[in-house]
Amino acid sequence: MQTHSTTLLVIGGGPGGYVAAIRAAQLGIATTLVEGEALGGTCLNIGCIPSKALIHAAEEFDKVTHYAGSSALGIKVEAPRLDLAQTVRWKDGIVKRLTGGVAALLKKNGVNVVGGWARIVDGKTVEVLVGGEPVRIGCEHLLLAAGSQPLSLPTLPFGGSVISATEALSPQALPERLLVVGAGYIGLELGMAYRKFGCDVSVVEALPQVLPSYDEELSRPVAAALQRMGVHLHLGCTVQGLSASGRAVRVRNENGEESELDADRVLVAVGRRPRTEGWGLEALRLDMNGHAVRIDDQCRTSMRDVWAIGDLTGEPMLAHRAMAQGEIVAEIIAGRRRRFLPAAIPAVCFTDPELVVVGMTPAGASQAGLDCIDAVFPFGANGRAMTLESSVGFVRVVARRDNHLIVGWQAVGRSVSELSTAFSHSIELGARLEDAAGTIHAHPTLGEAVQEAALRALGHPLHV
Ligand code: FAD
Ligand code: NAD
Repeated sequence: MQTHSTTLLVIGGGPGGYVAAIRAAQLGIATTLVEGEALGGTCLNIGCIPSKALIHAAEEFDKVTHYAGSSALGIKVEAPRLDLAQTVRWKDGIVKRLTGGVAALLKKNGVNVVGGWARIVDGKTVEVLVGGEPVRIGCEHLLLAAGSQPLSLPTLPFGGSVISATEALSPQALPERLLVVGAGYIGLELGMAYRKFGCDVSVVEALPQVLPSYDEELSRPVAAALQRMGVHLHLGCTVQGLSASGRAVRVRNENGEESELDADRVLVAVGRRPRTEGWGLEALRLDMNGHAVRIDDQCRTSMRDVWAIGDLTGEPMLAHRAMAQGEIVAEIIAGRRRRFLPAAIPAVCFTDPELVVVGMTPAGASQAGLDCIDAVFPFGANGRAMTLESSVGFVRVVARRDNHLIVGWQAVGRSVSELSTAFSHSIELGARLEDAAGTIHAHPTLGEAVQEAALRALGHPLHV
């Protein structure tokens, strides 16, 4: 058996693993990265990037479809048609460019990339099948970055017409009727995109609210948009399985009443689970946090020199968290003093309207025992939002009453994902309401709502 050794061995080439490998190599650490499927992981291949590409294509299609009806802007077009195969090729082209970019960056920085599935032998040894031949790699530090997998439902196992996000991102044809199980991130981002492509979409959600991880004030404009778009919402309902014909799903409501919803395809999006099985991880007997690998604030596991990052370590399962952890682990191994203690991890949901949460909500602050003030500025009073035909939503700020330190920002509205940068900066840099209110914001921009929310929290808004 071929053997070789390295200082750092990274299992998984997703955003967590590849960032850790690049940074470690930059710092002079001999690094090997093992990837079983495709560099870029879930994020680049079957997650963040392809989903946002599909969402963009759906938005553009929806826009011209509306212009073909009546447009307030006076734009007239003939009824548009969708060449789905071209849309999917365009999306795949973006994925290819980005994964190729990751491969090039790893090479440029001198990371040794091994293609194959890693199997853990012990905390310092991993075996990989490369071209059918086992290769044994020894290391001083082992970084686990194996990511997560979609959760399946026992009543609706994946297969046939029951699909996960992966299949939903590469459709060969659009279903006439799509049923989405789960009104969380994936269910609503992709459910809305399919609706904009013209499919009849129904959403079944176990809890009484869409996007239940966000507060109701934030999710309400999204629920209203779903209704306006004609998405059928079945809240407080659970799925019981496919009907005998296989072309409908049996659904039970809160009162225990059962009905059938017709569906040609069923997208199950009820969460993801850390990928902890099937690659020898059990052998390490690491401390766990539920299904996730338990880590401390330096991403150390319970075994010396074995580290873990990203989705494998549980919520929040977000690419930017994985990347930030990867960078920190590389620096700690290189001898630098780093900790993963962010003031806030932004969360964005790319629905229409979009949602952003950074830091504490008013309810979260009160649960944490903080005495806070909060204020909202509506996009209905923002000139730029009006010129974009989108005055739905608002920006909300949460700050301590005593010293006005900003502890949270939330927003719902068109393109508010881009405000997450300003929100994160202000919280990470310890800004106060007076700082946000006293900063000149360019006009006309959606960002003016950020300044105005701070002014309103101080009691003297100018435009509302
Ligand atoms: P992953 O990206 O899952 O990478 C793990 C890698 O490890 C994989 O490539 C896998 O093949 C490899 N691997 C696993 N086991 C082994 C082994 N034994 N040997 C070799 N290789 C192995 N997050 C956001 O922040 N923003 C978004 O907009 C967003 N959109 C999403 C949309 C969808 C549809 C999905 C599914 C997810 C989305 N996410 C989003 C979540 C994001 O993709 C993940 O949080 C992120 O990819 C986690 O990174 P990771 O490095 O921990 O794991
Ligand atoms: P999710 O946790 O966002 O949503 C799952 C939803 O399914 C919840 O609303 C839950 O109440 C519901 N649910 C659970 N069991 C159910 C059942 N039996 N019947 C009906 N509803 C049920 O999970 P997801 O949408 O699968 O996404 C997985 C993860 O991927 C997210 O948590 C997030 O970390 C990541 N992601 C992030 C983004 C982003 O950052 N924009 C986008 C997509 C995915």
